Amino acid sequence: MNIDERVQGGLYGVAVGDALGATLEFMGKEIVKERYGVLTDIIGGGWLELMPGEWTDDTEMMLAVAVGIDHDFRNPVDAIGIEFLRWHKTNPPGVGTTCAAVFHKVRMGLSWHEAAQQLHRETSHTAGNGALMRTLPVALAYSKPEDIVEQACSIAQMTHWDQRAAFTCQLYCLLAHYLIAGDRFRDALRSAYSYMAECLPDDTGLEPMKTELEQKMADPQPTGYTVDTLACALQGIESSSSLEDAVISVVNQGGDADTVGAITGGLAGVYYGFKAVPKRWLQKFNLQQRKRLDDAAERMLKVRLQVS
Ligand SMILES: [Mg+2]
Repeated sequence: MNIDERVQGGLYGVAVGDALGATLEFMGKEIVKERYGVLTDIIGGGWLELMPGEWTDDTEMMLAVAVGIDHDFRNPVDAIGIEFLRWHKTNPPGVGTTCAAVFHKVRMGLSWHEAAQQLHRETSHTAGNGALMRTLPVALAYSKPEDIVEQACSIAQMTHWDQRAAFTCQLYCLLAHYLIAGDRFRDALRSAYSYMAECLPDDTGLEPMKTELEQKMADPQPTGYTVDTLACALQGIESSSSLEDAVISVVNQGGDADTVGAITGGLAGVYYGFKAVPKRWLQKFNLQQRKRLDDAAERMLKVRLQVS
């Protein structure tokens, strides 16, 4: 499979996972079952009262990261920040609390990293999945693992200062990186872990996070905590054999279904490629949505050529 198909697959995978899962966000698994049996189509609704095919903050912030990286791939934080604030100004519904709090501090004059660090000191609660849901473009644009580790951390820390947010973003992007290279899922995960162990100092708490993640994969819970969310996505892909099945299985657990769907869809998209995205889901996106995703794919491929 060529790289274009994997890059496009990843971006569309995030978008379909988000749009499918948004219907079920904040529902318990039992309610989902009672109301939908198994939800397999993008129908909109949910607490945000979406149109069928409408996506949420997950896809918007991912697109912002893609555009920002294209504008300044060597030092993308400020360029991404401009895109975040531009989007936030449109008054979108359902912005995560951590992101909203950091946006406010940045508007008051702090830099992105200062703002995120200050919020972490104030709340000690910045390990939500709001950084993970937007991180995929790092794996699409940068082709060297050292760049991926650095940028995934730096972009996560624009809002989520907790080390577990950075770790999950780094692991997710490295995993996507090895999947793009054509590895099988288990091999890619093993390579991602060993690369992180190699390049991070021993005292960073990587081992405890790895242990926690592996325990959670045995009984994944779709909460908003970044380690839980990643565990759901990894387990969803490991226990299925297509993008469609992986995304359907994770979103029907309810909870933070749009984000779990987005994160699963992104990985499954680079793994199985764009052609694996069901046509009936793609048809729910309008021309403008398709254009934005295609444009982001082009930008990622362009940066990839420049950095390599
Ligand atoms: Mg969302």
